[in-house]
Amino acid sequence: MNDKGYVLSLTSFLLIIPAFLLVIILINMSVSQTGNHESILTSDDVLGVAKDLETQLPQTGREVLKHKSEEVIESGNPLSNSRNEIKDEIQNRMDIWCLRYDPDGIRAHCDVLCVDNSQDPFQIEIKSTINVQKGEIKHMVNLSQNISLINESFPIMDPLPFLKCKEYGGVTIGKNKTLYGSSLSKYLKSRGLNNSQAYENATSPLFIKKCPYSPYELHGSTHNFVNLKNCIDNGFYHESNDGACFFCRLEGHGVCPHYGMETFILPAPSVNLTSNNSSEVATSSLDHVIFDEISFGTYSGHLLVYFQDGTDYSYLFLDNSHRKKYGLPLWE
Ligand SMILES: [Zn+2]
Ligand SMILES: [Zn+2]
Repeated sequence: MNDKGYVLSLTSFLLIIPAFLLVIILINMSVSQTGNHESILTSDDVLGVAKDLETQLPQTGREVLKHKSEEVIESGNPLSNSRNEIKDEIQNRMDIWCLRYDPDGIRAHCDVLCVDNSQDPFQIEIKSTINVQKGEIKHMVNLSQNISLINESFPIMDPLPFLKCKEYGGVTIGKNKTLYGSSLSKYLKSRGLNNSQAYENATSPLFIKKCPYSPYELHGSTHNFVNLKNCIDNGFYHESNDGACFFCRLEGHGVCPHYGMETFILPAPSVNLTSNNSSEVATSSLDHVIFDEISFGTYSGHLLVYFQDGTDYSYLFLDNSHRKKYGLPLWE
């Protein structure tokens, strides 16, 4: 090797140093970028699970409402504190649901704080806190969600008739209807109410459905009571100050202090009527009037025929204040 060669290899060595440095810097940069990327992924995971729980809670809530109503109907036993029992059941189911995130190293928890009436009697309110954590990243949300009792593909049964008539022979389930057989007339008779036999073989809606006629006066606005008949045939429920809310229905109360709902209980269609029967009187056909626990809360109404099919008359008994509410002709 001559001098020239020596100088050349020294130069190339000096040239290699910055290249080395560059490579080291690039490696460092890419390592720290991976670190950032990882923490972004983790925070995405955590937010995703929180969102997941937010969607899952109302679904679980609806399942529990449906399940509790079925449980009461099957056992014939009212719940003693429906809000707490529903809350506890939702909590249990959410605890189980949250375990599914463990294998991903995500600790998720949903605290159901309270279950109560909402402004709308066809909804209930659930308050909860959701906590999700993965590594250093934590996320917490406070939620207040309304769950609807009305869902056509997931209908919820009204447990009240099953509880009220249990001691009087019970009721049975027909197609979308609660069938009272003789139990309702026996129940009314036991309370010393007049014309209790008018409710022999009565029926009422099985599922809670919200009446779409709004304002309610529309029920009486059509010729021949077409809207009223349509409402009754569909088994709709209406908002009511006097009617029981869903929680109190589960506890077997026909009336309650909360803003609730009411539906019609219908006497069986009859052939033995003429229009001059309109002076006939029986307990007014609203469920909260029939199932009121205090005698003076139960009042009578006059017969109103709303449909005639050949020889069969469809009718109900209505007091004047409910006739007014539904826009139906008053009885003088
Ligand atoms: Zn209606
Ligand atoms: Zn209530």
